[in-house]
Amino acid sequence: MPTFLFDSPIIGPIRSRRLGQSLGVNLLPSNGKLCNYDCIYCECGWNANGNPEHKKLAFNSAEIVYELLEKRLQELRQNHQEPDAITFSGNGEPTMHPQFPQIVDSAIALRNRHAPCAKVCVLTNATLVDRPEILTALKKVDRAMLKLDSGIDKTLQLINRPQADITVRKLIDGMKQFGQNLIVQSLFLSGEVDGFAIDNTSPAEEKAWLSAIKELQPSMVMLYTIERATPAQNLQKASTAYLQSLAEKVRYLGIEANVFV
Ligand code: SF4
Repeated sequence: MPTFLFDSPIIGPIRSRRLGQSLGVNLLPSNGKLCNYDCIYCECGWNANGNPEHKKLAFNSAEIVYELLEKRLQELRQNHQEPDAITFSGNGEPTMHPQFPQIVDSAIALRNRHAPCAKVCVLTNATLVDRPEILTALKKVDRAMLKLDSGIDKTLQLINRPQADITVRKLIDGMKQFGQNLIVQSLFLSGEVDGFAIDNTSPAEEKAWLSAIKELQPSMVMLYTIERATPAQNLQKASTAYLQSLAEKVRYLGIEANVFV
């Protein structure tokens, strides 16, 4: 099934379900995905994706990112098209970039200079927040959105396929360090992968995930489902009705919840 890779360090702005007109910053390679997860629904495909050179894929340099981001922000300002958001996402996990903290500082400085109303955002799988320099960098941005797709370890292994020793408890403990600024993003689906049935909308899943959200007390939860082609076949979207009903249960906990479909 075809998947979607960003072909440049700077993309857009493109209309985002969650962020409005979003100027994308891709720190990852354009010819393959680099991530310490390998989610069954990842729009960028599988990590290796049949690419024999996968292990040699290189991050975009901080200098190139800075230069292209400044050039694009200047163009947009001249055309009165300042974006709503400058968003780190792209072909993998942005916090894996060895210069991620410095690049965040640069992006904030460029935003202040050229697009002061834009929010600096990071979509992250939250696996590296136990590194002090990553936590500090993520706390500087306007919106760090941290992934938690299940409150059950077995399901996390099946959906997110972590490449390292990641557990739900480890993620929750890391996320708690964001305090009241925490934003959680969660994707819901069902289907079958490698002979295993997966459904993070089941009653047991819902109970475990809501328990995690109750413990985390984030400022906001973003609920969504598959939008584009996925590398795993046989996946089904969660229904809008299900997402809305789950959002209502989050709101009952006194936590803001938004559904993006
Ligand atoms: S964390 Fe994001 S980039 Fe990494 S595999 Fe999952 S969806 Fe893809």
